[in-house]
Amino acid sequence: MAAKASKVDKASKRVAFVTGAGRGIGRAIALALADKGHALVVGARSRDQIESLAKEIQSMQGAVLPVLLDVTQESSITKAVSIAQKEFGQIDILINNAGTAKSAPILKTELSLWNELIELNLTGTFLCTKAVLGGMMERGWGRVVNIASVAGKVGAPYISAYTASKHGVIGLTRALAAELAEKGVTVNAICPGYVNTPLTDKNIQNIVDRTGRSAKDTRSFLEGLSPQKRMIEPEEVAALALYLCSEEASGINGQAINLDGGAVQS
Ligand code: NAD
Repeated sequence: MAAKASKVDKASKRVAFVTGAGRGIGRAIALALADKGHALVVGARSRDQIESLAKEIQSMQGAVLPVLLDVTQESSITKAVSIAQKEFGQIDILINNAGTAKSAPILKTELSLWNELIELNLTGTFLCTKAVLGGMMERGWGRVVNIASVAGKVGAPYISAYTASKHGVIGLTRALAAELAEKGVTVNAICPGYVNTPLTDKNIQNIVDRTGRSAKDTRSFLEGLSPQKRMIEPEEVAALALYLCSEEASGINGQAINLDGGAVQS
């Protein structure tokens, strides 16, 4: 039997697990979910960053559990999920955000770079999802939001490994959405263009180092890729993630939503 759309209940508070929550997009999403009153499990490899985020959430009177997490290690994921379940009983929302971007022309893309991006961006998303999905299916309610990229929709030069990993994330999103459609669990992806985060700062520095172009010109060039001539802010990604996690979004499933000022329109 098909799952009924969840009854809209604006007061419901859920337990959300955000990977790579220490900074950038993950941090903004964790703060937005906490602001809505959800309990937060914030996972990252750096203890300093998640502890400072946890303090900020506590200052908002939010329930929060910082956990050390490396999404490339299945044992680390299992441990983090089990600590979270002990603390909060269950995980209702998973934000697969941990990821990175690296570039190289194809003939300079070593197998190690390829494997690094596939393992972190794609396999990490698969492993985290698998670790929390059983409980969501049993309870008949869940939200999985994968932070993909517009590079998951279209090709661009010098980022073949990143592009393949993010196309894979969208493929995984669509397959799981189809598989879980009758279980009350939705699976969606957000596809940002360039976002103002430390990762983008690092990528700008790499371009500067490689080309000798100034940081200012490089940032303007990246901003110019958007019809709006600007970067997306992490809070804009957070606002969309928050909506996809809401009761009201229960009919949105298997979508990969672009958030890039209109550069990619499919
Ligand atoms: P960021 O580098 O600023 O933050 C990423 C976070 O993930 C960091 O806290 C990092 O420590 C964590 N992380 C990295 N490897 C990890 C691992 N193995 N286990 C656990 N945590 C790990 O990056 P961001 O810009 O906030 O990007 C977040 C996500 O958004 C990534 O998946 C990225 O591909 C995607 N994205 C970013 C942009 C952009 O322009 N910044 C655009 C599209 C998509």
